[in-house]
Amino acid sequence: MLGVAARLPELESRDLTLMRQAGIGWLRFGEFGFDHEAFCSGRPQGEEFARAKARVEALREEGFQLMGLTPQPREMHAQAGEPGSVAYNDCYRRICAFFAEEFRGLITWWQIANELDIWIFRATLSMDQSVELLKAGIRGMKEAVPENKVGINITLYPSLPGEVDGNTEEHEGLVLARGIYGDAGLPVDYAGFDSYPGTWRRGGPESWHEYLDGFYQLTGKPIIIQEFGYASAGEMMSAEEIREGAYPCQVKKWKFSWGGAHSLERQAEFLRESLRIFAEKPFVIGATYYSWRDAKTCWQCREPDCPAETAWGLLDREGNCKPSYGVLKAAAAAELQPA
Ligand SMILES: [Zn+2]
Repeated sequence: MLGVAARLPELESRDLTLMRQAGIGWLRFGEFGFDHEAFCSGRPQGEEFARAKARVEALREEGFQLMGLTPQPREMHAQAGEPGSVAYNDCYRRICAFFAEEFRGLITWWQIANELDIWIFRATLSMDQSVELLKAGIRGMKEAVPENKVGINITLYPSLPGEVDGNTEEHEGLVLARGIYGDAGLPVDYAGFDSYPGTWRRGGPESWHEYLDGFYQLTGKPIIIQEFGYASAGEMMSAEEIREGAYPCQVKKWKFSWGGAHSLERQAEFLRESLRIFAEKPFVIGATYYSWRDAKTCWQCREPDCPAETAWGLLDREGNCKPSYGVLKAAAAAELQPA
């Protein structure tokens, strides 16, 4: 499963052609235009949902497979009940069952919510409540369509409180992993893993050995890397800025790098090395590169000249292929060659 994360409404036929030529067969899909209030009130979904469904059908006809993402806790409507309550989890279970049924035959691989080990995404839920919500979602989906493949994703692994933003002494990633994969009765098919060594955390492609081997040991499930990537632009913070605890958006610089730089060449090399290591590990069954194309502005601080969320693409802002695109294409072609 070689995938790429993309802003799907912006994709043009040229993008789809370039993806196919590079051997990219998978896309993540989370923009369903789902109307929570309508769902809670027993009303049918609106036009936005219908448009999203049409987009799913069109992408399937174009030959792409989709990894569906179910809603985040922060999107839940007040009518769903008190966050963390039995009623709330039951509502989430029904929402996931609804998605399974609506997209039966169109989307068979699902990720329940996204990175609930990160506090921004967990909203007001505690860690234990997050585990219960994920379990409710997994069960809802499998009850509705048992042949669907369902999992969750975690990013705070290995747990490094103080080094990685959002990772505290609560060891959020480990708590989530133990809660989900430690429940032998839970019908979970794979373990999703997101990580950005060299950009959002210390390390580089060589870190994958420790991360992936350890994560496999922790979860006992086949691993899908739901997000990985390397930013191709941005200067490095000074020692003083790091000491002061600067955030990348604040100083428009990176704290971490692989080999001292964020450049087009380093991005390409990062991708080459990462894909080589993934291919070596039989328990890694898929990987999705983040992301397809550079963004015009940083989604965190909304500034156009912030490197934090603008330079992850295989294509630049103008749509030109970066060296990393060629590397991905070559790696995919090599994988398809008979040994
Ligand atoms: Zn920013």
